[in-house]
Amino acid sequence: MGLEIRPVPILSDNYAWLLRDPASQALAIVDPAELAPVLAAIEQAEAIGGRLSLILLTHHHADHIDAAEAVRERTGAAIVGAGADLGRLPRLDRAVAEGDAVALGDSIAQVIETPGHTRGHISYFFAATPAVFCGDTLFSLGCGRLLEGSPAEMFESMRRLASLPPETLVCCGHEYTEANARFAVAALSSNPAIAERAAEVAALRRAGKPTVPVRLELEQETNPFLLAPDLSEFTRLRSWKDRFR
Ligand code: ZN
Ligand code: FE
Repeated sequence: MGLEIRPVPILSDNYAWLLRDPASQALAIVDPAELAPVLAAIEQAEAIGGRLSLILLTHHHADHIDAAEAVRERTGAAIVGAGADLGRLPRLDRAVAEGDAVALGDSIAQVIETPGHTRGHISYFFAATPAVFCGDTLFSLGCGRLLEGSPAEMFESMRRLASLPPETLVCCGHEYTEANARFAVAALSSNPAIAERAAEVAALRRAGKPTVPVRLELEQETNPFLLAPDLSEFTRLRSWKDRFR
């Protein structure tokens, strides 16, 4: 049985993600950066059974880690993050790297190193759901900025995420989809799937709803950065997007 997944809107446009393994009722929170809404979501989840056992961090930026210590203090949950970023993350109860397995009850996440946005960025892939928590690497219709990595590193990280099963739920760190859609339409105006997704995204946002999770196969058809056939096109798109308004 797969995970139950819910996005928790925090800060201005971030998502923390609350996960429940239905067999064991174990709970996890991904990237808890704002205490009040995250604690409210955890309390709500614990009220119907289960306990928070894991805090999963994708990368060291404040808008992904800021409430992790406070959540650990209040819940006793263990913080998991990239060993590569030890000095820039809260104290880790478990430091992980490429290929490591992280168990949430009966649900197992595989750690995938996805550098590019930051050097130590990791993603958590739960194969049985399937779902991937990819922080600021793959966004719906977009990809993270290259703050610490080269275009080649990010291109490779995106390719690795793109190779996951098509039904994988992409659970990213920000609600950037509407702005990303404007760029996607400009970059690939002849792609009808992008126009369709842009309309769906606008309707969801008008209704105050999240645009993620989104199935990977839809991203394969609509995300300009996944559609880029090679590194040079990817690099061109990434630098164009940096200047795009
Ligand atoms: Zn970030
Ligand atoms: Fe972020």
